Amino acid sequence: MAKILIVEDESKIARFVELELKYEGYEVEIAADGRTGLEKALRKDVDLVLLDIMLPGISGIEVCRRIRMESAVPIIMLTAKDDVTDKVAGLDMGADDYMTKPFAIEELLARIRVSLNRHAKLLQPKADLLQIGSLKLNLSSHSAYYGEEELTLTKKEYELLEYLIRNKNIAITREQLLNNVWDYEYLGDTNVVDVYIRYLRQKIDDKYGIHLINTVRGVGYIIKDEI
Ligand code: CA
Repeated sequence: MAKILIVEDESKIARFVELELKYEGYEVEIAADGRTGLEKALRKDVDLVLLDIMLPGISGIEVCRRIRMESAVPIIMLTAKDDVTDKVAGLDMGADDYMTKPFAIEELLARIRVSLNRHAKLLQPKADLLQIGSLKLNLSSHSAYYGEEELTLTKKEYELLEYLIRNKNIAITREQLLNNVWDYEYLGDTNVVDVYIRYLRQKIDDKYGIHLINTVRGVGYIIKDEI
């Protein structure tokens, strides 16, 4: 089970969160100040850090910045007040998420699960990743990400995208796509390809304002290394 480090000087809160996390089966460690928190966060066995912003000694923001210089461990910031500046500063320093105190423990648990899952997916071996710009495909889980955001692609959309990226910088005909992605015999109708290309463009090109999928007139489609 994952090990979670709580960096929090208010012992009541730390103790309460510790009990809840242990009840869920997590291993828990507590640090009551920024310096200890930083030191413990950089240990290899910590899987996620809950980091309070208002800490004695080094502030949570600064701890976050220093952790990010050495580690990609997921960090969820805890802010005492609904302070937008703190949240933005935390996210700018590389925190994955934040919670405003007082928070519902169920919400914290949900965010912990999301952060741990996302991190686990990103940690898959490099050979399982295809990447173009900010677009990443995880070949083992068949999932696609733009930055850290997971794309909601259907099975076919994903397969089409993967095929085009595997053959990047090559213009691929509609017939090739039909044969390789749909396993159809080419019978003269390639409309389905255009329909799926349109879906992908809506979900990626339009959404993120990039030109990923290019039309090659009279041929088909191409994805280039540079978007
Ligand atoms: Ca505090």
